[in-house]
Amino acid sequence: MERRNFIKNSALAMALLSIYKTDVFAQQALMRAYNFKPLRNNVGIFTEQGGTIGWLNSSNGFVVVDAQFPTSAPHVIEELKKLGEKPFKYLINTHHHGDHTAGNISFKGLAEKVVAHQNSLVNQKRAAEKANNLDKQLLPDTTFGTKWTAKVGDENIKAYYYGSGHTNGDAVYHFEHANIAHVGDLVFNRKFPYIDRENGAHIGNWITALDKILAQFDKDTLFIWGHSLDPEKVTGNKADVKAFQNYLQNLLTFVSGEIKAGKSKEDILKASSIPNATEWKGDGIQRSLGAAYDELKGV
Ligand SMILES: [Zn+2]
Ligand SMILES: [Zn+2]
Repeated sequence: MERRNFIKNSALAMALLSIYKTDVFAQQALMRAYNFKPLRNNVGIFTEQGGTIGWLNSSNGFVVVDAQFPTSAPHVIEELKKLGEKPFKYLINTHHHGDHTAGNISFKGLAEKVVAHQNSLVNQKRAAEKANNLDKQLLPDTTFGTKWTAKVGDENIKAYYYGSGHTNGDAVYHFEHANIAHVGDLVFNRKFPYIDRENGAHIGNWITALDKILAQFDKDTLFIWGHSLDPEKVTGNKADVKAFQNYLQNLLTFVSGEIKAGKSKEDILKASSIPNATEWKGDGIQRSLGAAYDELKGV
């Protein structure tokens, strides 16, 4: 059963519908503010704004992976509470970026434990100190270096850390019985990724990390992506992981070829697609090109 939220202000809804009354798809998009959707074995996703949230509704409590923003986090809490009066055992962060952790604060006094990789905590704290909004954070109280596991109800959750990728603090969380892995921003599905070199991102190691993910999981694993060009495709399989790895490889190949051809960084940043990875689209190709250039130049 999929539950969607509808615009509660009927006057606003009617005004919007009158504009789009001939377009049933536009109507549906307007009326859908968020999407709370079960996948399998009591594990599901929530999308509204920012990184995709994963959740587990187990017999003895809830687990939430990532928290989006303080404006959207209360909606996933509200939907889970409708499923029963149970404790929120864990709030888990895939990494520190605000579109995954700013909503942590909505779990204050609610989540029994907040879990993240140790570098994610360091990065979140540093970013908050810089932005002078430490008071608006709920920081992880449980961190790990390489491994973390938890048993919640009849589900086992296992964390994996593969070194630097999108940042230096990205972890993958596997719901073993459901065989669902939330990879956070280690995969941008057909969408140009953010590559956060300031926080330890490394494209070369990211490619290696994706190799490890491909070796770790099997053909039945259902993956949750942090971001997708098509908002309906925030989940996928190993072929999508491989396709994103191919994007990163072709990005490095393209930029290193341009450097060897004597092009300036400014000229390289003008490219509008990556050869042999043209499925990747959206805003922000410059972030990929600039990060690849700096990494290859050792800046
Ligand atoms: Zn993100
Ligand atoms: Zn991110």
